[in-house]
Amino acid sequence: MKLTINVVWFKRDLRLKDHEPLSHAIEESLPCLLLYVFEPELINDKHYSERHWRFVTQSIKDMNQTLIGMIDKGDGVRGGGVRGDSVKIQVAHADMLSVLNDIQQKATIKSLFSHEETGLAKTFLRDQGVALWCREHKVTWKEYQKDAVIRGLRNREQWEERWHEKMNHDCVNPKLNKLIPFRIEFDTSALPRSWLDTNANMQLGGEKEATKILDSFISDRSQHYQRHISKPFKAQASCSRLSPYLAWGNLSLRQVYQRYQQAKNHHPWRRALTAFASRLHWHCHFVQKFESESQMQTRPINRAYLNFAYRDSLECRADYLAWQSGHTGYPLVDAAMRCLEQTGYINFRMRAMLVSFLCHHLNIDWRMGVHHLARVFLDFEPGIHYPQFQMQAGVTGINTIRIYNPTKQAKENDEDGDFILQWCPELRVLPKPLFFDPSELTPMEQQYYELKLGVDYPLPIVNLTTDNKATRTQLWSFRKRSDARLESQRILARHVRPD
Ligand SMILES: Cc1cc2nc3c(=O)[nH]c(=O)nc-3n(C[C@H](O)[C@H](O)[C@H](O)COP(=O)(O)OP(=O)(O)OC[C@H]3O[C@@H](n4cnc5c(N)ncnc54)[C@H](O)[C@@H]3O)c2cc1C
Repeated sequence: MKLTINVVWFKRDLRLKDHEPLSHAIEESLPCLLLYVFEPELINDKHYSERHWRFVTQSIKDMNQTLIGMIDKGDGVRGGGVRGDSVKIQVAHADMLSVLNDIQQKATIKSLFSHEETGLAKTFLRDQGVALWCREHKVTWKEYQKDAVIRGLRNREQWEERWHEKMNHDCVNPKLNKLIPFRIEFDTSALPRSWLDTNANMQLGGEKEATKILDSFISDRSQHYQRHISKPFKAQASCSRLSPYLAWGNLSLRQVYQRYQQAKNHHPWRRALTAFASRLHWHCHFVQKFESESQMQTRPINRAYLNFAYRDSLECRADYLAWQSGHTGYPLVDAAMRCLEQTGYINFRMRAMLVSFLCHHLNIDWRMGVHHLARVFLDFEPGIHYPQFQMQAGVTGINTIRIYNPTKQAKENDEDGDFILQWCPELRVLPKPLFFDPSELTPMEQQYYELKLGVDYPLPIVNLTTDNKATRTQLWSFRKRSDARLESQRILARHVRPD
């Protein structure tokens, strides 16, 4: 006789606290399989790179340490005679349907518990397959709302109220001491060993690390949050750095919001914390947009911009590669890209500038750059990434067009060149202000400072005043087109709160 079990499927919710699916599964008092599936289709997808799977691996390791720790402390789990190491997240490496079939051969699944996922088209299709499988095998799939993102929403009426309701509701902390573990060994021998390595330049995954980062931000690092938010060097310490933990679910948005609520009243820099809290709100606002209009993955939200003329993808290939590798001849662009490659993080303003440089100065289609930034952002979150990318590319028709001049940005936000010189060390031979714009160096200065343009540092790949005139004109003229305006009205009605 096969045992009847429940399965908790972890995805981008890699934590053991404030976890409704886990909590409800445990309450059913059946043996429970805690499952994470490394899906080949996602591993090989062009939005993802090794850094993401390493972060997931670290997060699972952290959850396992907590589970094993419970046994060692004697808090733990029911079921009698269970060895300490048998309470852990079971990891599989296959597509989800094969994993479900595999489990179903060894046990009878009563219910599958998970959070809803606002993901890429691939995960949506996979979920359709899982739903069908569940129906065919008489398994109930219980999906729970993630953060404040609502499925099937038609407009934003009452959305704000529901956001607050969700954030102020008590956290749902699973009673792990009531867990009855069920274990199946899957073949994971083909998973790369390198995922087990840590990269000291990148944030470490896991609930414990996430909590430490949150505490240090609230109690100490947030003091200059607003003043430093646009400065790439200082933002590294003064911004919360919570994005990968929220993107991969090491913390729920509600845990972060409630930590802010506890701290704000008696806090010495309350305004900084309030500015931070508004970003938590934006987080769900953007994911909600993507949830409600996921076609944004392949087309501009404003369909009139399907006719926007970009350069031919072959013709602009060399410029694209220079952007991607941080060799454009614009120090702030290059430093931002090199920093991302090495650390997986950059602040908001630099992200916006990178997109503006690609789309406005190089006139390259946003769809050409969107995957590269997803791969290098450790915090890649489809629901924020796509709407933000389109907004910065200027293809929504409803947002202010911002064309960033990287040299001006450098002078304003990296006044002493700390950031530029950290990531473009070849420019360290230059004094301020020459490192802001090396293309201005005279042949004599190049000789004097021993920096030859085009050899030691690239010549600019584009002239910011002359080369992008046509793109600017096109951007402004699109705003006035009747089809773009009609679409803008539709977007506002769907994605913005009515007055
Ligand atoms: C082109 C582009 C792509 C982006 N892609 C992503 C992405 O894939 N994943 C991601 O988490 N953020 C993305 N962002 C938003 C933002 O840049 C990052 O969330 C932020 O820089 C992360 O740093 P932090 O955690 O220190 O942020 P903080 O300023 O400390 O903010 C706290 C949290 O609020 C949320 N948040 C902050 N700013 C924004 C914003 N502008 N829009 C939506 N949510 C926000 C994030 O969850 C963040 O962790 C993108 C921005 C741009 C311009």
